[in-house]
Amino acid sequence: MTVATLRIAIGGDDAKPIVANVANIDRTAPLDAQLREASVVLRRVRDSWQCGGLVGKPPSDAPDEPALAQNDDVALVMLVVTMTSEPPIPPIASADDLERALQAIAHRPAHELAGVMISAQLLSRASALGRWPPPALVELAPSMEGKRLCAFCHKPFAAELTTCPGCGAPG
Ligand SMILES: [Zn+2]
Repeated sequence: MTVATLRIAIGGDDAKPIVANVANIDRTAPLDAQLREASVVLRRVRDSWQCGGLVGKPPSDAPDEPALAQNDDVALVMLVVTMTSEPPIPPIASADDLERALQAIAHRPAHELAGVMISAQLLSRASALGRWPPPALVELAPSMEGKRLCAFCHKPFAAELTTCPGCGAPG
């Protein structure tokens, strides 16, 4: 039995809505259906992923404590999946890596799943990164094809623009 914990921090305008969307996932549904729904909800806001990570470890009785800071830069979505198989734990550096990890974790066959916990909380980006050091949570290097990264809000935007459409900072 292994516990895989996938974390994705979502920033910007998508942070608050995703907390509600995660809360609305039907916890009475079969475990594999819950995971697939979480995967859809998360991939819908892929452009707003800021940090993420995947760790696997044997199950423990100690719950993962929430971070205390309540400044709400980001929504931290956490999928804790207890499974009978050994999940692939690839290194994560980019949103593409994280999406592959999400697919691998969220699309396990039902018979491999022993427990699923899906949660989301608003907290500051800094406290999330402090609370869960890499590889649990790493800052993502987004896919930069035709894009560059806003130095201020960390979101990628089209390279031909002179200001970031997200926050208005000069590019
Ligand atoms: Zn910006």
